Amino acid sequence: MEIKTLEDIKLNLTERSKINDIDFENLSFGNVFTDHMLVCDFVNGQWKQPEIMPYAPFTIEPSARVFHYGQAIFEGMKAYKDEAGDVWLFRPEQNFARFNKSAVRLAMPEVPEEVFLGGLKKLIQIDKEWVKRGDGKSLYIRPFMIATSSGVIASPSNNYRFMIILSPAKSYYSGEVKVVIADHFSRAANGGIGAAKAAGNYSAQFYPTKLANEKGFQQIIWTDDATHTKLEEAGTMNVFFRINDTLYTAPTSERILDGVTRKSLIELAKKENINVEVRSVLVDELVAAAKDGSLKEIFGAGTAAVVNPIAGFAYKDEYFELPKVEKSYALYLKEKLTNIQNKVADDTFNWTVKI
Ligand code: PMP
Repeated sequence: MEIKTLEDIKLNLTERSKINDIDFENLSFGNVFTDHMLVCDFVNGQWKQPEIMPYAPFTIEPSARVFHYGQAIFEGMKAYKDEAGDVWLFRPEQNFARFNKSAVRLAMPEVPEEVFLGGLKKLIQIDKEWVKRGDGKSLYIRPFMIATSSGVIASPSNNYRFMIILSPAKSYYSGEVKVVIADHFSRAANGGIGAAKAAGNYSAQFYPTKLANEKGFQQIIWTDDATHTKLEEAGTMNVFFRINDTLYTAPTSERILDGVTRKSLIELAKKENINVEVRSVLVDELVAAAKDGSLKEIFGAGTAAVVNPIAGFAYKDEYFELPKVEKSYALYLKEKLTNIQNKVADDTFNWTVKI
């Protein structure tokens, strides 16, 4: 069927909401889900009618391709509630476009806008009470798609399932983050899938990150796979470096995810008259800047944490602690961006979209 309007979404709503069982002041990120989820199947070359139904397990063949060949992609975005109780999305068209870019790279069908954005809006309208306000609270949105055809045959699936699940979140504080600069493992390679939000990119990071954790570091700063000389991303975030009073971040490429937070911070920094240069920073340059004191800040940028300041980095056998800066660009830009997202400051960029 062709999905043209939101009326085309089938509704099967829960009889009992779980919302009163949830302690919204004590949520650990990504563990609690709202009452409903959206499901839309792609069968015989066609998207079927989407359905919003109670959040629940579902059955799938053990031979489904997703389990064997990792044909799976996802997105991560947030919704916020304003003072009047209205709910807003932040640049959702960016996530929609990136999702379909990931779909193409993984040989999966593109999801129609009516299903992704239309379905998302309808789902959030239904679970609107789950979006809380204040103190960094938001609703984390996880759209994803998996290959559902059965058969242990290493070729693209015929059938797929697109879903959206929602998880209430409070402000994300990860504690002190110390990182290791990768000199052997890689997150992505030219010609690979690093620029897609493919599930396999994340599982491939787990082992090197576990080794880093065992040495007392929380994350890895990934470098280019060919030479390990260019700094690319921090954990599952884009990364910014402040040397003297200029912010640097690598250009997006086949190896780097085109982060919505990254591109928003670049625009915000420009508006705030902070010098920002989009170019690769070399490991040697970073070590030299740490040694001569010109390196002021490093921070990760992504939807979950928005901005995640880094306390220090290790490279080979040396550890470099970052100085405590008085006027942190990381914290300043984080406040500017979250004020726009929470509808506390004017959205002069027109980034927020009312549901
Ligand atoms: N890089 C990677 C590898 C990521 O997984 C993410 C999180 N989506 C980001 C960067 C940041 O992207 P965004 O700002 O769109 O969340």
